[in-house]
Order: sequence, then structure tokens, then C-alpha cells
Amino acid sequence: MKYPEIKTDKVSPLGFPCKKAVYHTREEALDMIRYLDEQRTSKPIRPYKCPVCGFWHFTSRTDKA
Ligand SMILES: [Zn+2]
Repeated sequence: MKYPEIKTDKVSPLGFPCKKAVYHTREEALDMIRYLDEQRTSKPIRPYKCPVCGFWHFTSRTDKA
């Protein structure tokens, strides 16, 4: 697996393809999922790597996508 080299968290909002919250790494996404699980404010979710922007988003575990 090759990941894009992203050195900054200042991603330009201009032209950014995704409106969802993005996480730069799977670990970062998993950290947030752990936090959300503790808060029990959300449905079960899992991270997935977005083919559009190359970052990570969350999706419901019940989604087939
Ligand atoms: Zn995306």
C-alpha cells in the first residue's frame, strides 16, 4: 500500500473533494472512533480510505460500501 505523502494538516479547503471529516492516517481515525465509542454518541463506525481524496473517513459498520 502506498500512501500519499502529506506533511501538513493545513489542507486547503479550496478544491478539496470531500466534505466529510478527514483523518490523515488509519491510526488517527481509529483514535477518534475509540473516543466516539467511549462517548457512545454515534453508531458503530469503521474507517475507510477514501479513493477520492486519499484521506480516511468514517462509515457506518452496517454499510455495505
Ligand atoms: Zn475523501
